[in-house]
Amino acid sequence: MSPYVNTHTHHVGEGINVLDVGEGGAWLEDENVRVLAEGQDVFYSVGLHPMKVGQAADEALTVIRETILDERVIAVGECGLDRRSAATMEKQERVLLEQVQLAEKYHKPLIIHCVKAYSELISIRKKSGTSVPWIIHGFNNNEQILAQLLDHGFYISIGAALLNPRSNVFHLIRDIPLERLFLENDDREIEIPVIYEAASCLVGLEEERLKERLWENYKKIFNK
Ligand SMILES: [Zn+2]
Repeated sequence: MSPYVNTHTHHVGEGINVLDVGEGGAWLEDENVRVLAEGQDVFYSVGLHPMKVGQAADEALTVIRETILDERVIAVGECGLDRRSAATMEKQERVLLEQVQLAEKYHKPLIIHCVKAYSELISIRKKSGTSVPWIIHGFNNNEQILAQLLDHGFYISIGAALLNPRSNVFHLIRDIPLERLFLENDDREIEIPVIYEAASCLVGLEEERLKERLWENYKKIFNK
């Protein structure tokens, strides 16, 4: 049986967890003593969230540069752009680019948070001449943006929005090629099997087959 892969989470549950540890530091010390239940596997993503980009951004980037050396870190993020952030778009772009360079240096995929800045995001991706995979986490935007993201080679990770019949992704998940799809539960209380079950119904694929396909994606994208 293939494990559940949870591409972006803030709490450990069943299957393979890509746990968001922020910039690392103190967070990671707590993780070192975690006792895992059977069927749980934990890896980390480390990064500076665009809502947290502020005066201390450079210090945070320094901690990230140290944390990324931990062998359990398998991705950079969540990082990205958010129109609601107090930081200017220019500053957010600079901080994102630094993290893109770090991902390139260590050959790790990026986990991207993006709110109302998709055209800027796409142009940064082009400008950076990137070779690592970019995964949009918590995607729930419209058909046009999805088409652009797929055209530009992004991977799409979907979360609890899938459980809401009025959400965009409820209707759009079928438009995402399976080799570009991931699932996650982010900071929600909903356990990852519930999200797989919903996705399996919506794409019309038996849950075990879906798990297999997304596990294949995981091994390829996260160098496992
Ligand atoms: Zn998150």
